[in-house]
Amino acid sequence: ALEAHAISAWFGDRKVLDRVSLAMPARMVTALIGPSGCGKSTFLRILNRMHELVPSASLAGEVRLDGADIYDTGVKVTEARRRIGMVFQKPNPFPAMSIYDNVVAGLKLTGTRVSRSGRDLLVEESLTRAGLWKEVRDRLRQPGGALSGGQQQRLCIARSLAVRPEVLLMDEPCSALDPTSTRRIEETITELASEVTIVIVTHNMQQAARVSQQCAFFLAEQGTPGHIVEAGDTTQMFGAPVDPRTADYVNGRF
Ligand code: ATP
Ligand code: MG
Repeated sequence: ALEAHAISAWFGDRKVLDRVSLAMPARMVTALIGPSGCGKSTFLRILNRMHELVPSASLAGEVRLDGADIYDTGVKVTEARRRIGMVFQKPNPFPAMSIYDNVVAGLKLTGTRVSRSGRDLLVEESLTRAGLWKEVRDRLRQPGGALSGGQQQRLCIARSLAVRPEVLLMDEPCSALDPTSTRRIEETITELASEVTIVIVTHNMQQAARVSQQCAFFLAEQGTPGHIVEAGDTTQMFGAPVDPRTADYVNGRF
């Protein structure tokens, strides 16, 4: 499991998250929902140590993967990011680089060594897991930028998977995509969840209901730092939310 314990976060002296704790069980999809600006992306970036790339950013609390704090001084940041991958809202393959090299690029970024023949297998496996292999197997040398938006996002998922992460973080992975591409990605998420822990940020409540087993509702009221109002089983959160603010949000009343 991936566990966040009492995470607080600041940009400069502005506090944007206040003691957020959440357990994200292995091989489950956890959806992070809530209005714009409540700190979902910040929280997600803390989970794989990308928050520290912002010079003004600081944080308190712990993130544990299978019990070990990923912020311990002995843990290499590249290793933390290899184990905990990230897919962004806007598909961001290297556009001029071939489809093949895009998949392999993740290995270089995280310093993972694979033999030449191993690489071919890994590219096929990663593209298959991302649901893209059949469409691109005959054109692996074409540039990643030549693919459609939905295909580019699946290429980014394949690139993340190539380093065999235990966790995949997805920040609004479908919000730049058409409904058909969105459905394909949702199918991929559902298939991946049998082997990878997934945390997805989404503004689409139907999507949260379709893909997740657990939900966390974030809120930052009147300029206060973001915090979790309610977290739990997705069916329960949508069907019988405990907090009236959750009920309002999931029913589109704010
Ligand atoms: P959205 O749904 O619009 O993506 P979010 O829930 O992901 O919103 P965050 O992007 O995490 O929200 O932002 C939380 C707060 O932190 C906001 O007030 C935002 O302005 C602030 N913030 C985010 N990134 C930075 C940054 N790099 N520097 C300064 N402030 C930031
Ligand atoms: Mg965001």
